[in-house]
Amino acid sequence: MSPNKTGREKARCPECLAAIWIKDDVELWDPITCPECHAALQVVRLRPLELDYLDEEWEDEVYDEEEE
Ligand SMILES: [Zn+2]
Repeated sequence: MSPNKTGREKARCPECLAAIWIKDDVELWDPITCPECHAALQVVRLRPLELDYLDEEWEDEVYDEEEE
């Protein structure tokens, strides 16, 4: 009872909408670089496979607390 394994999953780049083939043993939050636009992405969902921009902006909030 093994599913039809291709070994790869297709995801879509949120930046350029290119189809990206990713190994099906990829882990959640694995960083992915789009081969088309080189956007820094990460796996945000496995089934179905979904990519989103790599979350690296949240640290900015720390500095937003500065008050003059
Ligand atoms: Zn892209």
